[in-house]
Amino acid sequence: MSKRRVVILGLILFHFPVFAEARLVITNATLIDAVNPTRSSMTLIVENGVIQSILSPDHSAEIGEQDIVIDAKDKFVLPGLWDAHVHLTFIPDLDYQTSYDLFLRNGITSIRDTGAVLNRLKPARDYATNHPEKAPRLFFSGPLIDGKDRVYKGMEPGFPELSIGIDEQSDIERIVDDLVLEGATFLKSYEMLSRPTYLKLLKIAQERGLRVTGHIPLSIDLLEAIEAGLGGMQHIRNLDLACALDADETIIERQHLLDNKEELAGSALRSKIHKSQRYAAIANFDKKRCNTIIRKLAKYEVFQTPTLTINSYGSKRLFADPQWRDTYKFLPGTVREDWQANSVIEAEEAVSENATIFNDWSMKIVNLFNQNGVKILAGTDTPIGYLTPGFSLHKELELLVDAGLSPKEAIRSATLTPAEFFNLQQEMGTIDEGKVADILILNSNPLIDIRHTQDIYRVISKGIIY
Ligand SMILES: [Zn+2]
Repeated sequence: MSKRRVVILGLILFHFPVFAEARLVITNATLIDAVNPTRSSMTLIVENGVIQSILSPDHSAEIGEQDIVIDAKDKFVLPGLWDAHVHLTFIPDLDYQTSYDLFLRNGITSIRDTGAVLNRLKPARDYATNHPEKAPRLFFSGPLIDGKDRVYKGMEPGFPELSIGIDEQSDIERIVDDLVLEGATFLKSYEMLSRPTYLKLLKIAQERGLRVTGHIPLSIDLLEAIEAGLGGMQHIRNLDLACALDADETIIERQHLLDNKEELAGSALRSKIHKSQRYAAIANFDKKRCNTIIRKLAKYEVFQTPTLTINSYGSKRLFADPQWRDTYKFLPGTVREDWQANSVIEAEEAVSENATIFNDWSMKIVNLFNQNGVKILAGTDTPIGYLTPGFSLHKELELLVDAGLSPKEAIRSATLTPAEFFNLQQEMGTIDEGKVADILILNSNPLIDIRHTQDIYRVISKGIIY
């Protein structure tokens, strides 16, 4: 990471005004994070939004009259959680204040917006800057950087404008520098990029110390992209194609399809390619080939955000569960009514065989990631797929555990690993002295059952009780 990059991130974290003069003292706490062993009967002193000190039971804290005290006896204190894959602007009627509130009340104190055009994101950004006590920390990529036949261009139903389209003729350096000036701290690439354009983008991003995550373009071989420095992947997208026995042949076929002789819309062309290649590739799964790729993903630290909640959209169908639909009550009226009506209708349809195949494959791959030490981030894709902001991250944690992560590893995926993605592991992600005071206090132990992350007692964001 360059010095410049560190400076940019430092500004993001620490430019918040100091809100409270009172100290916050959390007593009798059991501390749980991804690194330290469980520590019991500890006292946490929070000042100016930072964990100033952690006192063991043999050191008593002097508590002043002005101090705010939380007695955390029989409670469990964790770092605030991240949702590393959200789209704040995807549904215009779902306003950012509602989303922020749902994230915070669910213990999600940091979010990574993985695709939004900047002028639409601006109100949400300004609000997060001006009212830091009412918003999670917001990290964003700006628009999806897609190719000429871009997918999300606001022209077809279900595909709002989230992207820009670039090709070899574009001034990519300027585009990237402008995004950085606007506050983007990573980039999100998309599927319709041509191979040379994508390689150029990776190179320019690397020179600026920016990680590029996203959908691997359909035009490129994944191993080549890994070696060229891609920083992350979303939804395990297109690993299915790369892991197939006939991957070398299908990429040639795909490159022809991408010539788009029929002049289809980008969204239609992309689904045509997935339809013709995805399930055949999964049926042709080559274990040896896939293990080689996965080991390489681990070695090159290509962060994975599997978004199991969205990958299981058609199979496990959270929206078919009336208890889940109960979370819609927190959404604005029009969104609530729309989700309620449509998810009931969709739930009546039979689960397709392909949906089950894709879910099983996703779960298997996440387990392989975990066994091979690939960095995994918890992210959802909310509000796509009736995934209510905030609540859905806890479902992602459950699915990660179902896939084979231990509860502690699942907690890591929503705390320390996303911090590492931004090289912020010195500032956040564990309960340690000097780290930001983004804290989740639970009534029950999440190491025994990951669902206990939903049993929330208090949320502290930037040192303030939410
Ligand atoms: Zn997304």
